Amino acid sequence: MGKYDYLIVGAGLFGATCANLLSKKGKKILIIDKRDNIGGNVYTECIEGINVHKYGAHIFHTSYDDVWEYVNNFATFNRFTNSPIAIYKNEVYNLPFNMNTFSKIWKDVYTPEDALRHIEEEKQEIKTNPKNLEEQAISLVGRTIYEKLIKEYTEKQWGKNCNELPAFIIKRLPVRFTYDNNYFNDKYQGIPIGGYTKLVEAMLDGIEIRLNTDFFNNKDEYLNMADKIIYTGALDEYYNYKLGKLEYRSLRFDTKILDKVNYQGNAVVNYTGNEVDYTRVIEHKHFEFDSTSPKTVITFEYPSNYEDSMEKYYTVNDDKNNQLAEAYKKLSEKENKVIFGGRLAEYKYYDMDDVIKAAMDLCENI
Ligand SMILES: Cc1cc2nc3c(=O)[nH]c(=O)nc-3n(C[C@H](O)[C@H](O)[C@H](O)COP(=O)(O)OP(=O)(O)OC[C@H]3O[C@@H](n4cnc5c(N)ncnc54)[C@H](O)[C@@H]3O)c2cc1C
Repeated sequence: MGKYDYLIVGAGLFGATCANLLSKKGKKILIIDKRDNIGGNVYTECIEGINVHKYGAHIFHTSYDDVWEYVNNFATFNRFTNSPIAIYKNEVYNLPFNMNTFSKIWKDVYTPEDALRHIEEEKQEIKTNPKNLEEQAISLVGRTIYEKLIKEYTEKQWGKNCNELPAFIIKRLPVRFTYDNNYFNDKYQGIPIGGYTKLVEAMLDGIEIRLNTDFFNNKDEYLNMADKIIYTGALDEYYNYKLGKLEYRSLRFDTKILDKVNYQGNAVVNYTGNEVDYTRVIEHKHFEFDSTSPKTVITFEYPSNYEDSMEKYYTVNDDKNNQLAEAYKKLSEKENKVIFGGRLAEYKYYDMDDVIKAAMDLCENI
């Protein structure tokens, strides 16, 4: 028998949800994280009175009633609605693609019918099954939107030309024929007041946490410490990469404190042209409505190839990596003491609500 019922590796949302729910069931928990902070990628740090999203901008949105109810136990959410702006060579557009975008792109567009006429006409350019991302995007929204708002942005994101990228990356493109700049269609949306760190702190209240603690520095010892392990680190790393390395895309963040109240007038501004290398600029104070800071904090987001020691931000779910992940998953299913969960251990992209839902489902079945 170990000292703990559960050792949880990783204090991100998957690990924190499991820790919270299992401790409510009376289980003795130890949660460890190799970083010096809890929260994983949703961690926010207070700088100049502003909650800065250190690992990329995070907007909570969900249609799950139970997840919304659950997170509201730990924080109050504000009414933030994600309405990003796109800047393309000095032109400003609203996202997601909606009537505000279309009426700015085509000067004769006033009604949904006008917009549809343009889009349908341009889509005709692709007559056969799309062979690559470029053809796929044009077949969905036409060339004008593709060239102004998709092409160069996607090429910066992936570091490849759109005609060399597979079509499956863009399965569908949300096109909205109303004058509505709300990015998400979900029932609930907002940002936890006081930041995500406060929310995760509340989830982990009363639970033993060890930070700066890498599971692999003492793997055998940790395996013996608890009856069960919930592992949310990288799947291939758990097996010491014995079948090969899974691929990721990374990001580089350049954060600046500016001596001005308002820099760009919006939380998220996408730069869709290739005249700059960054894809987005985040102005963190606009996620909140009560900031009185005379300064502002902005972050330039640069996509980057993943190299060892960088953060693994996005999985690359092409056939090659999916097959390798499947092979690792077969090994993980044979483990009787270790449960794998979360975005890294399952090698998949999860939104925050989906990762919390997955952890809730797991804990219900335990
Ligand atoms: C740039 C970006 C923006 C995003 N924006 C949104 C958004 O707006 N809305 C949304 O819903 N979702 C968003 N997401 C997704 C969101 O970040 C994830 O759903 C969520 O963070 C997943 O939680 P997790 O616990 O699975 O993983 P993580 O948050 O990555 O947590 C895993 C933890 O495990 C730790 N760990 C790993 N290996 C070890 C080890 N060996 N020993 C100890 N600890 C270890 C890590 O340090 C990390 O803290 C975004 C993701 C990215 C990359």
